[in-house]
Amino acid sequence: MFDRLMKWLGAKEASGMVEVNLTTGTQIPVSKTDKGKLYAKIASNHCPDCNGEGFLAGPSGGMSQNIMCANEQCGARFNVTPVIGIAERI
Ligand SMILES: [Zn+2]
Repeated sequence: MFDRLMKWLGAKEASGMVEVNLTTGTQIPVSKTDKGKLYAKIASNHCPDCNGEGFLAGPSGGMSQNIMCANEQCGARFNVTPVIGIAERI
């Protein structure tokens, strides 16, 4: 299923995920999007907001995981999807 979706989206390979604008067909590497940049910071185990180290794990489901900054004064929360390499604020 995932392979068929990738082929339909025109992505070359899973590690080269792209964000596709379905109106224009424009493809942007996920790592260049805001969600990809946010994920890269989190993947370094540092909070994008306070630069503190470490996260606490929350609920997970499907391919995603909710996390919270381990710094009690910050408490920023994110939903991360490592398979795609994206993160969103929650
Ligand atoms: Zn933080």
